[in-house]
Amino acid sequence: MLYIVPTPIWNLEDMTYRAVRILGEVDLIACEDTRTSGVLLKHYDIKTPTISYHSHSGQTKTDKIIAMLQEWKDVALISDAGTPGISDPGYALVQEVLLQDIEITALPGPSAVITALSASGLSSHHFLYLGFLPVKKWRQTILTRISENKTETIVIYESVHRIERTLWDLAKYFWEDHKIVIWRELSKKFEQYVRGTISETQEYFKENPGKVKWEFVILL
Ligand code: SAM
Repeated sequence: MLYIVPTPIWNLEDMTYRAVRILGEVDLIACEDTRTSGVLLKHYDIKTPTISYHSHSGQTKTDKIIAMLQEWKDVALISDAGTPGISDPGYALVQEVLLQDIEITALPGPSAVITALSASGLSSHHFLYLGFLPVKKWRQTILTRISENKTETIVIYESVHRIERTLWDLAKYFWEDHKIVIWRELSKKFEQYVRGTISETQEYFKENPGKVKWEFVILL
């Protein structure tokens, strides 16, 4: 059986009892980065063997995991943070597992998109998750499409490297007075949200360069 196991998006206390138990019971844990996950596994005293499985892992790595699963071994897939497959590696392995008729299950757990959305104050009945906007190709096409026909809350992931550029683009496509919520450092001690028009949030980060760090979820 392949278990898709979400892990904390920062705060180690956000592991579920079931996630801890499954990670302790499986034969192998496929981690996006074994060193990053090592901190979590050590914290919970989980001694299960690990291998790395990331976006550049080729077919050989997938085949190795599939071979184990075919020998009726249990494997858990985790990423560096949050839910595997959500802007993280996982899709290719899940596809292959389904193709081979191997049992799979997903545990509920942390994901930045749901955490940010649930406290955003924006409608969560319908939302469009875009993950990271493409850097070059398709960026303009996507921004045009979502700005011309916006019927639901839009959720975008962004890193410290591109937050200012993305806000600039959003101001261009949605107008500067469009309402926006930006969450940063979710589940950390200094978790913060910035709420206002796009231009007000741009102004905030310009005046507070110290806040342009870590990771962001943008909702509008
Ligand atoms: N698999 C993860 C999930 O389920 O949310 C997402 C991984 S993706 C590589 C990393 C991005 O998720 C970050 O750049 C940021 O946009 C968002 N993110 C993850 N943890 C976050 C946190 N603690 N605070 C704010 N955003 C976060």
